[in-house]
Amino acid sequence: MIAKCFETELIHKVGNLEVADYGSKAVRLRRIANLGLSVPSGFLLSKDFVSEAVNSPKFTISGIFENLEGLYALRASPTERDWGSVDTILNLGISDVYVKQLAIQIGHGPALEVYRRFINSFSVLVFGLDLEIFEELYHKESRLINPDQHGFLDENVLLSIVELSKRKFKQKVGREFPQSLEEQLDLAFVAMSKSWYRPSALILRTSKGASNDAGMGIILQKMVLGIGPTFSGSGRVSTIDHDTGEPKLKGYFFVNSQGYDQIAGSGRHYVLTEEQKIEEDQKIESLQKLHSSSFTKIQSVVEKISTGLKDSFDLEFTIDKNDFYVLDAVISKRSARASVRVAVDLVKTLALTEEQALLKVPPQNLIEFLHPQISSSFSRDLVGVGLPASPGAVSGRVVFSSHAASILNARGKSAILVRIETSPEDIAGIHDSVGVLTTRGGMTSHAAVIARGLGLPCVVGVSSLTMNIPDKTMISENGHTFKEGDLITLDGTSGEVLDGSAEMTQPEISGAFSTLMEWADRYRCISVRGNADTLQEVQLAKDFGADGIGLCRTEHMFFEPKRLLVMREMILAEEEEKRREALSKLLPMQRSDFIRIFQIMKGRPVTIRLLDPPLHEFLPNSEDEIRMIANALGEPLSKIIERSKNLEEFNPMLGKRGVRLGITLPEIYEMQVQAIFEAAHFVNQEGLYHIVPEIMIPLVSTKKELEFISQRIRKISESRSYQLVPGNDYKLGAVLETPRAALRAHELSSLCDFLSFGTNDLTQMTYGLSRDDAGRFMREYIEKNIFHTDPFHSLDSEGVGELILLAVERARSLGKSIELGLCGEHGGDPNSIKFCVAADFNYVSCSPFRIPIARLAAAQASVIQKLQISD
Ligand code: PEP
Ligand code: MG
Repeated sequence: MIAKCFETELIHKVGNLEVADYGSKAVRLRRIANLGLSVPSGFLLSKDFVSEAVNSPKFTISGIFENLEGLYALRASPTERDWGSVDTILNLGISDVYVKQLAIQIGHGPALEVYRRFINSFSVLVFGLDLEIFEELYHKESRLINPDQHGFLDENVLLSIVELSKRKFKQKVGREFPQSLEEQLDLAFVAMSKSWYRPSALILRTSKGASNDAGMGIILQKMVLGIGPTFSGSGRVSTIDHDTGEPKLKGYFFVNSQGYDQIAGSGRHYVLTEEQKIEEDQKIESLQKLHSSSFTKIQSVVEKISTGLKDSFDLEFTIDKNDFYVLDAVISKRSARASVRVAVDLVKTLALTEEQALLKVPPQNLIEFLHPQISSSFSRDLVGVGLPASPGAVSGRVVFSSHAASILNARGKSAILVRIETSPEDIAGIHDSVGVLTTRGGMTSHAAVIARGLGLPCVVGVSSLTMNIPDKTMISENGHTFKEGDLITLDGTSGEVLDGSAEMTQPEISGAFSTLMEWADRYRCISVRGNADTLQEVQLAKDFGADGIGLCRTEHMFFEPKRLLVMREMILAEEEEKRREALSKLLPMQRSDFIRIFQIMKGRPVTIRLLDPPLHEFLPNSEDEIRMIANALGEPLSKIIERSKNLEEFNPMLGKRGVRLGITLPEIYEMQVQAIFEAAHFVNQEGLYHIVPEIMIPLVSTKKELEFISQRIRKISESRSYQLVPGNDYKLGAVLETPRAALRAHELSSLCDFLSFGTNDLTQMTYGLSRDDAGRFMREYIEKNIFHTDPFHSLDSEGVGELILLAVERARSLGKSIELGLCGEHGGDPNSIKFCVAADFNYVSCSPFRIPIARLAAAQASVIQKLQISD
């Protein structure tokens, strides 16, 4: 017989099973049985039987088993539990003859009730009859009859319902109700197999990520009845609170029911997902009074499964004549927050080691601890979707200018700054807002970078929202117009924009979160630093556990209104002398910031990057502001306009920026370096910490550029009597962010103590893809499967990665010890961190709010690497 060529497996057998062949439930049951727990015995049938049952018209399965007797269940075992399933068919084998045998064991009433339910479910699931037919019949016949104390109808009434049901079956199907176990089994097996391949099921599971040929195994399992005069029934318990992860037995138990989806009564199939259908005496706690030994058994089984299978499980069980059977144990669903609590608790119960627990929590889950989130029960009124540029959720009132944000903030109201794109002028407005929304821009656009640094929720590139600047409105695709003052909600974690304000859950940094973070620090073998520019961000980075500051973008220290005016004075100055005059006013401002940063970081490394952006970025665009500057500087308006025009570039990101500023206007870097040295000197003199400042030069491409700058820095360090440690007074480094710099890394490393990969610019330049414009079409690129993911978000390990690896090899080829880091936005992305661990980097550096995520991701990568090495 054809079926014989396939493999069947007994549930109770040691050995590995492939989920792809037998499905996940089969594998779970085998593992549970191998823990020594009672699982009803039976056979695991591979997916090949199922596809054969669909494709061969004469397929039968019963012939491959010898000596089948009693009652059986057929249970579906899809590859993934979430892909939808096929209904279980219970009580196969009951017939006119067998019901009498069963009556001897459990009594006439219960036996007939089993038969009645079987006729119903078999007719519906195998022959597609309408359940209503049987429901009507049941209600008509049982109308005036009260069930006995166990919930069973009088046996004569039940007998008549059974006979009438069989008659109905014959009327509808045109044949007698099948009476042999073999025939019932063959018919049920084919029906279940066909049900798996029906078009609607296929569409459903492919929408959940299943491949077109995803299979299902089937389990033929001996029935444990859960029904009868001796204590019997079935139930389901979850072992944790799904929102918090707190250990808690929650669930239900139904006396005389067979499996959680079939409840005594009319035999209708229920799937109980909500507690509202459960009476007080059906709650699992009530089992403690009803049958305390079963309750104790549940507790011990839960513990055994959790320790044996190293996770927290929800349990489905049947109690049959006082005996306890596990029908299934599925990994408990849990919120991101609960996943941390569960992992930590599993270590406490010795189910997991600390290293294993670290691997249990997806790093992104930590976001829930750091930012408010929209409550899971809140129904979302979506008005647009963009790129999730900075996580967390916030509700506030729409404002279309930084000025309006500041006004609203001053009135104590929450503003959400909505712009086509933000520019450095918006810094003050961003600070005064609770969230930022831009209709253009990508993951490394100005708004995204600043918002991440400040920990503000931010959604960028929402191209479905149209801005009407003159009208001060924003219009959604479905025509909804938002005016200034209207309430919206940003979900920076998902990239969604919602109408109105939303219900939130608040962040929490303590308890299980802190414990997990301690373990992460113990096991990670790469440092995690913060990208922080302002004192507030530096403090935040420190609070979130940064090992240092890996990138202090000094340009962000000039955006405070008072400083911005001096900065503009410096930029607009035509002669060096005037520029130096302005720079001398900026010096004390920079110095005091550096002092505070060194003090906050208490001797941990601080990398300060000298000025990077094109100077034109600091100049205003609006005529009003230009006029204001002209007045403040006492210069004619025309002169300011002309000077500003002269500074404009066609392609500023490839123009006079980074080290090119340091070479063409050396006095700027001189002032910054002097401020750094003076600050380090001041703090070193205090004697509390020893500061060795790290000075980093942006956008370097050639050795000569670096030589030019490094000679000047050395000269400044020597020309003053800074009391830094001789020979180790400061560290010099370069940002590797142009392809040429990567290719000539050996030359650059000969002059450096450290190199830091600026992967934002490096990605931009390797792809020739503007980091500010990519957001406009990134979604489409990903939807069309051109990019697997946004390369500005997760490092392109193939292209950009190859360039980095080449640079690493060349940088290290000189034999000198050189520190390697990564300071682009990728420093907070778990996959990119994995890459850095594999390449043996010394550190990654990321926005403060991503530091905990990076610490966990770094620990996971380190643990996995260790496991691979020891394999
Ligand atoms: C980078 O380019 O990766 C970088 C860190 O610098 P910025 O984002 O400031 O250009
Ligand atoms: Mg850069």
